[in-house]
Parts: sequence; C-alpha cells; structure tokens
Amino acid sequence: MLAFDIIIVGTGHGGAQAAIALRQKGFEGSILMIGRDKTPPYERPALSKEYLAGEKPFERLLIRPEQFWADKDVALKLGTSVTRIDPEARQISVTGDETIAYRKLIWAAGGDARRLSCPGAHLEGCHVVRDRGDVDRLRAQIAAGARRVLVVGGGYIGLEAAAVLRKLGCDVTLVEMQDRLLSRVAGEELSQFYLEEHRRQGVDVRLNTGLESIVGDGENLTGAILTTSEELACDAIVAGVGIVPAVGPLIAAGAAGANGVDVDGICHTSLPGIYAIGDCAAHPNPYAQGEVIRLESVQNANDMATTVAKAICEEPEQYDALPWFWSNQYDLKLQTAGLSIGYDTTVVRGDPAERSFSVVYLRDGMVIAVDAVNKTKDYVQGRKLVSERAMVSREDLEDESRQLKELL
Ligand code: ADP
Repeated sequence: MLAFDIIIVGTGHGGAQAAIALRQKGFEGSILMIGRDKTPPYERPALSKEYLAGEKPFERLLIRPEQFWADKDVALKLGTSVTRIDPEARQISVTGDETIAYRKLIWAAGGDARRLSCPGAHLEGCHVVRDRGDVDRLRAQIAAGARRVLVVGGGYIGLEAAAVLRKLGCDVTLVEMQDRLLSRVAGEELSQFYLEEHRRQGVDVRLNTGLESIVGDGENLTGAILTTSEELACDAIVAGVGIVPAVGPLIAAGAAGANGVDVDGICHTSLPGIYAIGDCAAHPNPYAQGEVIRLESVQNANDMATTVAKAICEEPEQYDALPWFWSNQYDLKLQTAGLSIGYDTTVVRGDPAERSFSVVYLRDGMVIAVDAVNKTKDYVQGRKLVSERAMVSREDLEDESRQLKELL
C-alpha cells in the first residue's frame, strides 16, 4: 500500500499553500496532494474575472509552475477524489479503488458550487463558476453566439460574472432573492452603490426575485420563469448562489460539523491527525468575536494552511489572521478588511458618486471592518484600525481631512 507522511486533499489555494508552507518550514517527510481537478493548483479568483473575460491565459493562473511540485518533492495525484476515510487505520480510499495510508491528513477540499434545484436545472446552458472547466464551458457557449444571459445570485460571483458578461457584449439580467445585492457580506451603502453601478452598466437587476423554473427545447434551455411569474427568454444561465462545503467523507468518518467541518484554533478536526482548512473549515474567528464561521476567501485558505504547517512542525500558533477580500467589477476595485458581522454603525468616507469611497463598520465604537472602493489608501490604513481593534468616534471618521492612520 502507498503511504505518505502527509496527504493533502484538495489542490486549491489552501492545499497548495499547505505543501508550500511545510517545505518552507523545512518539513522533510513525504507529501501527497490529491485533487479532483486535472490541472495543478491554480488561482480561482480570476475565474469570474480576467479568465472569463479572456484577458488572462490559463497558464498565468497556475499558483506555481508545474515543475515546482516535483522540485519540492510534492507528489500530485490529479483527477482523483477521496471517497472514504478510515481515521483509525489512518487510510483513505480514492476513486479507482486504491487505498493510501497517511500519518497526518490535511483536508482542503473547499466546496462545490451550489446548483440550482428548480425544474429544468439539468438543461444545457445552465452554468456555475467554480473551476476552470465551468468557465471554459461558459466561454465556449458565448463564443458560439449565446447573447442573452440570466445571472442568478447577487453575491460576488454573480456580480463579477455580470460585469464581465456585459463587457463581452451580452444582454444580462440578474435576479437576487434578497432585497439587496451582497447582503451576506456588506452593508446597505455598498449594496446600493453596486446596484446603481450595475444598472448604469446596463444590467437588468431584479431584487426580491428568484427562479421558479428553467424552460427548454429538448436538451437546451431557452428561458426561465421568475418567481414574479415573468417568463424571460435567455440562451444561458449562470448561477452564483454559493457553495456547499465538500466534507462528505470526513463527516461520514465521524468528524464533527454541521456547516462544513468543525476545527479548533489550530485547524484540527475532531478526528485524530486530521486537519481541515479553507472554505470548508468552520472555525472560531477572533474577528467575529470568536463566533464559529466559515470564510470563503484566498486569505483564509492561505493563512489556515500556514497555521497547519506550523502545528505539524511543532510550532503551534492559534489562527488569528485578519480577514481580507477583494472583488473587481468594471473599473471598480473593492477591497475589504475585517468582518462586518454584527455592526451597529457605518460611516461613509468620500462620495460614492465619484466612484472612490470607503465604508467603515463599527460595533460598540470599535472598528470591525472597512470596505474600500477605488480607495486603496483607506483599505491599507483601515486594516490597521481593524487589527488594532481601534475605538474611534464617528465624528473623527467622518472628517475626511484626516487619514485613517491618524486615528489609531
Ligand atoms: P457567491 O460566493 O457564489 O457569490 P453568496 O452566498 O455570497 O455566494 O451569494 C449568493 C447570492 O445568491 C445571495 O445573495 C443569495 O441571496 C442569492 N441566491 C441564492 N439562491 C438564489 C436563487 N434561487 N435566486 C436568486 N438569488 C439567489
């Protein structure tokens, strides 16, 4: 039977960084990285941005050149899924019926794009944006002449896809079930700004609207019926309705977890020798007042990977990295530091009409998050306010003659 000191499951940002960090720390044991994707680790954020737009070739998305993994003695087993874990024997089974033994397992499997569940969701022309293959299929359909696109979901993925599709010349309608865009991650000011921006760019945004069903002609979809009963003709549908954490084999093996898999402060699961990192890891986050949350971000995947590498190299350190995010839509660069969960006050700095402003989120007088649109200075300085848990008055924040760093 094959055996490795470390098996990493998942070839996303978390999996790749776990291998990189272990080698950087001088770990000399054997490492196997297993991934369902057929390609070596690549950057996902670009999939809904430059890659969908055709502005960046796939080769430039690779996290490291393919040769890097061989040079660092990290074995890759691609196009392979883990089907079962035996935590007592410390063995995994993979597709093809092979069993492989490990000393420590790092689960970095992320999540699968949530699929639409309405009637007709199986029809050709229904897309998600999660891996390279998804985007290649969508791009191929657009290249073949698809023009009318319905985007489902007004989170980052839906909005970024909508912005690119407009640029590619598509007619875009976007439906969002909630009464505002970005409701899961941002405050009202940002939602309103992005709503106006997308409408100005010609996206037909419908709030409080979902999909009733998808209609088709044989195998291909031809339209959708909205929850408002309206029937909309379209050639393609892009669903950006979140992810489902990929934790099946872990939970089946007895790991604790309801929303993803539970991990402690060093990303260890309830099963011996098994860590979990990235999108699927439900962890107590110091920037959410210790509340147990999952974070879907490159920052979280990379920083958790480093946390696990340190734990494995016997220098354990509690995970307490500052959360940060970004989103590119049209010529707008949104940068976020911190988590706005539980905010009670917001202060807007700058004029949204000038397309350069920031929103500072406070809870009980403490700065907990900053959203900056085309205003990198506020993002960079705001990060400090968030990480220092600065107590700042509303009046001081509103005074734009003062830089955020002066308020520390
Ligand atoms: P993502 O990372 O894919 O953008 P989010 O969870 O941040 O995921 O955003 C998904 C958005 O999609 C949410 O605002 C949610 O309200 C919306 N949504 C989910 N299901 C539907 C649906 N069937 N119709 C319309 N909007 C939906």
